[in-house]
Amino acid sequence: MDTSTLQNSEFRLTFLGATGTVTGSRYLVEAGGKRLLVDCGLFQGYKALRLRNWEEFPVDPSSIDAVLLTHAHLDHSGYLPRLVDEGFKGVIWCTPATRRLCGILLPDSAHLLGEEAEYANRKGSTKHHPARPLYDENSARGALRQMRHWDFDQSFEPVPGVIANFRSQGHILGAAAITLAYHGVSLTFSGDIGRPNDPVMRPPSPPAASDWIVTESTYGDREHSAGGIKQELCAALEPVLRRGGVAIIPAFAVGRAQSLLHVIAQLQLEGALPAAPVYLNSPMATDVTSLYRQYTAQLILDDAALERMHRNTRIVNSAEDSKQLNQRKGPMIIVSASGMVTGGRVLHHLVAFASDPLNAIILCGFQAGGTRGALLAEGARRLRIYGQDVEVKAEVKQLSSASAHADAPEILAWLKSAPNRPRAVFVTHGEPSAADRLRVRIERELGWDAIVPEFGASVDLMSTTAQMVPAKLVVSA
Ligand SMILES: [Zn+2]
Repeated sequence: MDTSTLQNSEFRLTFLGATGTVTGSRYLVEAGGKRLLVDCGLFQGYKALRLRNWEEFPVDPSSIDAVLLTHAHLDHSGYLPRLVDEGFKGVIWCTPATRRLCGILLPDSAHLLGEEAEYANRKGSTKHHPARPLYDENSARGALRQMRHWDFDQSFEPVPGVIANFRSQGHILGAAAITLAYHGVSLTFSGDIGRPNDPVMRPPSPPAASDWIVTESTYGDREHSAGGIKQELCAALEPVLRRGGVAIIPAFAVGRAQSLLHVIAQLQLEGALPAAPVYLNSPMATDVTSLYRQYTAQLILDDAALERMHRNTRIVNSAEDSKQLNQRKGPMIIVSASGMVTGGRVLHHLVAFASDPLNAIILCGFQAGGTRGALLAEGARRLRIYGQDVEVKAEVKQLSSASAHADAPEILAWLKSAPNRPRAVFVTHGEPSAADRLRVRIERELGWDAIVPEFGASVDLMSTTAQMVPAKLVVSA
């Protein structure tokens, strides 16, 4: 990319990820010759997407002055260690809780990537000899050392002339929308938008006054069920426990696991669910759960509710205890990562329990195309796990209200709560149909300009209307 022509008043946004997919959030903002990256996520799901993680970064990482993170989920933060390996030397700005969560998530991501590479080497399923992980734990630690935190609603200057602000977005601990202002023009990134009625997190704040908004659209074509997570989870779990089955809940270790444990504890306390042990089998989710107790201001839960959730949950830490769990009989509930069944300890539980019709697999969050979770949701009766076919006779249920993402009406309500009409809304972070359906609704229901940008496209933010410049004219790689 040639920036020699960038004048000091130039303010430009380039879409380097989360286009046509919910993963790989990366946005380049150029302001007065300085370069900021908003989010630095991993591509996940389909192999073709994951291969993108290996492509050369579209701009030289050493030319980026600072990174700002909306939140800690790996599709927003997981590429950071690689960016640092490739020469990024600037500061990574985020909220305090996001920094703490990254301290858990990034080393774990390095560990998982290492396992993947090892597996590929063992199976010979790689063209590279030997296969290397995208990054290792050292690189993850390097990225963590470059992080600085900043509180919600306090302005700061990540590079000279650009004023930045984090606003609380619910979703998960530390999650923020980011507003950047330069020469009087402002741009807001929604990050992932939380739910107005989340059982654990506070509702998202309205957007700051913005000339431009970049919004997520994970559920841009869907409406979550009206009953709410409590009712839905109760209806899903009750018959399984009553018949003595094992309910396996694959859950994102950060965010979902905590909400589910809280709701299950409530239901058991009220007697709505039969008594059955609840296991949380994810060492990472355990760390995260204790972190939630340190940031209660972001939660709607009080100490008593957190304590109840803690007491109601049996924590499984060692690999040995994890294996022993597979020898136990139902009724019981096992909450274990990963949420899209792409890895983690939940795989062992599926091998042990998926072939028994007494049991159930309960999917809770968004299942990206290409993942085992998406296959299960589509009705697959056979899964490939650790190189072997696992028959699925267990009941499979997908909860539509258990997501940490706003649905289409909730995204529209969030946009509508903005204090002014933006020049345009860029719709990203969704599968193509979801992004396009949301674009149409923004245009029809709000009467605002909305655009679904393509990978690598860019836009001049100083202009009064959105004139998209296609990728090939901007990104050289
Ligand atoms: Zn997220």
